[in-house]
Amino acid sequence: MVPFNRRELSVEQEEVFTEHIEQCPDCREELEICYIIEYGLEDAEDVAVDDAEAAALIEQFDFKGLVELKINESNRRIDVYKIYSKVMMTFVFVADIFVILSIIWWIMSQL
Ligand SMILES: [Zn+2]
Repeated sequence: MVPFNRRELSVEQEEVFTEHIEQCPDCREELEICYIIEYGLEDAEDVAVDDAEAAALIEQFDFKGLVELKINESNRRIDVYKIYSKVMMTFVFVADIFVILSIIWWIMSQL
C-alpha cells in the first residue's frame, strides 16, 4: 500500500493491486486506515495542494471517498497506459511492415 500511495508500483503491479482492492473489503479498509494515518493527522493543505478533490475529502474526513478517488485515478492511469501501449504496438507493427516491404523492394530492384 505504501508503494501504491507513492506511485512506485509498475503498471502491472498497480493493476493487480487496484483490482484486488476493488473487491476486497478488508484491504479497502486497511487502505482507508493508511490514508487516515497519512493525511488525517496533518493539515490537508500541506499534503494535497495539487489535488483539490483529494484535499476536500481529507478536510471532510471522508477517507472512504478518498480510497474511491485514488482507485479511480489509478484505473484512469492504467487505462491511459493501456491505450498508449496499444498505439505504440500498432506503430511498431506498421513500422515493421514498412521495413519488410522496403527489403522486398530492395531485393526486387537488385534482380
Ligand atoms: Zn485483500
